[in-house]
Amino acid sequence: MSATPEQFAATGTLDVEALRAEFPALHQEINGHPLIYLDSAASAQRPAVVIDAIADYYRHDHANVHRGVHTLSDRATRAFEAARERVAGFINAAATHEVIWTRGTTEAINLVAQSHLRPRIGPGDEILVTWMEHHSNIVPWQLVCEQTGARLVAAPVTDAGEIDMAAFERLLGPQTRLVAVNHVSNALGTINPVARIVELAHAHDAPVLVDGAQAAPHLQVDVQALGCDFYAFSGHKVFGPTGIGVLWGRETLLDAMPPWHGGGEMIREVSFDGSTWNELPFKFEAGTPHIAGAVGLAAALEWLEHQDRTALAAHEADLLAHATHTLSEFEGLRIVGTAPHKASVVSFVFNDIHAHDIGTILDHEGVAIRTGHHCTMPLLRHYGLAATARASFSVYNTRAEIDRLAAALAKALTLFR
Ligand code: PMP
Repeated sequence: MSATPEQFAATGTLDVEALRAEFPALHQEINGHPLIYLDSAASAQRPAVVIDAIADYYRHDHANVHRGVHTLSDRATRAFEAARERVAGFINAAATHEVIWTRGTTEAINLVAQSHLRPRIGPGDEILVTWMEHHSNIVPWQLVCEQTGARLVAAPVTDAGEIDMAAFERLLGPQTRLVAVNHVSNALGTINPVARIVELAHAHDAPVLVDGAQAAPHLQVDVQALGCDFYAFSGHKVFGPTGIGVLWGRETLLDAMPPWHGGGEMIREVSFDGSTWNELPFKFEAGTPHIAGAVGLAAALEWLEHQDRTALAAHEADLLAHATHTLSEFEGLRIVGTAPHKASVVSFVFNDIHAHDIGTILDHEGVAIRTGHHCTMPLLRHYGLAATARASFSVYNTRAEIDRLAAALAKALTLFR
């Protein structure tokens, strides 16, 4: 998120109303009020072109991929593989076959845990994460630790919500066999210094997996510039379908990994004496894939790449600044996560009103936010909290919507006085 609100004011190129018009789900009433959707960090809405691409695929082009000789199978295969190429371009992968389709970030991380890490580690080895990881970047490593006797270690986070880099550095060592870190925190919004983390980890020969679930919608991701070894993200947070996601990995690492799931498509030869594996990326894609999901994700990425991404980032930075300022005016409201380098996520607690009560009252006003632990229980425990309310903003949100959020919060306050 490089552009500041000032830069946005200077360029001012984004027509938010025109952009909003492309998202059908935004134009509805909830409980008698126009919907204000402030839950894009959990899942974004999608533009009509994505919905249409999926419908068109099913209407005209669907068949199973790869093995067919007939026209529809050929069309489906071309669309599916073109989608992979689109993903490779989106993250600047060195090669298209480094892109593996998964169900999402969670499955991508589990794949690396089981296929890359599990065969290589044992007692005395460590996996280094941070306190601000999503459960999906904690639990897969815990499973590997149970299976191998290795240990999961977590680097602390400062009160502002940044990784304590001095502590992180101290925790690295020859025992560190992998570092797994989120690019952007879903609970705090913090944008983490991934390139620096990679540099430090590589000095100890530890590969780095980046959980990019929250970064892909906001940042221009370049896996080669980051220098990381694995990068995971989910389609549904980047304006695409649910049930589809991506694991990108360095070819040398992917080549050395055994398959994770067995079945059709991932094999070269099968006999009862044993089987041999297909080449990348198919070695990791057992069974019929989510073809329509890949097609929809490609449409979403194409849509995003056709936008002025600097203007989008500036708009989001403006929304973040406006929300931070507006919410800070409330006495008794505390923003959790105040790092200087943040994506457009604002987590907060408000007096002693339970976050779920805030969420329910806001829903009565048509305002959708997320409440709870955001799948980051260890982080919230560190802050002495069980839950926060979280408003997350996307390119289709407006300052006026944030003002409506503030008005709804003021109403919540009167109800709990
Ligand atoms: N990591 C982060 C930072 C996330 O925000 C999420 C989704 N909330 C995930 C991982 C998991 O993504 P998915 O459920 O799409 O696999």
